[in-house]
Amino acid sequence: MEQENYHRGDKMAILVTGGAGYIGSHTLMALLDRNEEVIVIDDLSKGHEYAVKGGKFYCGDLRDEDFLDTVFQQNEIEDVIHFAAYSLVGESMKDPIAYYNNNVKGTITLLHCMKKYGVKNIVFSSTAAVYGEPEHIPILEEDNTNPTNPYGESKLAIERLLKWSNNAGDINYIALRYFNAAGAHESGSIGEDHDPETHLIPIILETALGIREKIIIFGDDYDTPDGTCIRDYIHVMDIAQAHILALDKLRRQGRSGIYNLGNGAGFSVREVIEKAKEVTGRNIPVEIGDRRPGDPAILVASSEKAKEELNWNPKYGDLGKIIEDAWKWHRTKISSDIN
Ligand code: UDP
Repeated sequence: MEQENYHRGDKMAILVTGGAGYIGSHTLMALLDRNEEVIVIDDLSKGHEYAVKGGKFYCGDLRDEDFLDTVFQQNEIEDVIHFAAYSLVGESMKDPIAYYNNNVKGTITLLHCMKKYGVKNIVFSSTAAVYGEPEHIPILEEDNTNPTNPYGESKLAIERLLKWSNNAGDINYIALRYFNAAGAHESGSIGEDHDPETHLIPIILETALGIREKIIIFGDDYDTPDGTCIRDYIHVMDIAQAHILALDKLRRQGRSGIYNLGNGAGFSVREVIEKAKEVTGRNIPVEIGDRRPGDPAILVASSEKAKEELNWNPKYGDLGKIIEDAWKWHRTKISSDIN
């Protein structure tokens, strides 16, 4: 359908793809707090309908252009925040085709529809995995990108597509490269809920709850002070805030860019486990296992650019607070049997 012939409704809305997923659902909460009109798309292959706390929900696949046409025709979409993607590194190593197919193809269809319906602004959920093995710490946005897995490659391919689409005058974009997203909404009503769970903090907390017998530390012979890997943990609500600031910037200036999102402080696996023992007051049995293939020793972001250009000011940088909020969520989940 040509854009000129297309009749739009009255309300300007933000389309959130992957809004039932971990970071998408938390960003949705932040948008709803701002009284934004939100349209959510999710195919529920990984996300959860209970996590969509408002907005107008459409269940479907981004690669289905007829489905997207319906969404764009039924709503006056002004901007897009794009989370929908597969995001497990290990899974991507086993099935790279599925990762390229879902992540890249889904984005191509989305961008095609944005162009068709004259929607310019897109905030894209990217990842620190685009860097691969870091050249130096902290990692800067202009550092080399050399992903070590198909997940990171698929996100980098999308970043490049966004760059060229911007160059062609089709869209304006901001790509946010997150480091280790963690924590949960302070209400305890939503949080990290992956199946299977592979991330450190949820696994530690499931061990504290007795759902798992122990946490296996993937290697204690790295070149770090205690031998375990160091990561930059960033509260999911701080990430959510960054999306809103990015959108505001696109709306104001239409200037595209790429930003890291991290705390700039690294914690080792052992330090995270110690902090979780303190927060939960529970015993957390640990076993040392082999290194996980592809894990760099240290990943810590420089987020100075996001602070300066997006006015991003992370509020929940303290690791204790991140674990406290995650703990609240895990206890809610186990007591209410949310699924
Ligand atoms: N990790 C671990 N045991 C686990 C899960 C993770 O030792 O059961 C380590 C992992 O090797 C990495 C860190 O915890 O050094 C964070 O891993 P996660 O999968 O949470 O995030 P990633 O850094 O891979 O994005």
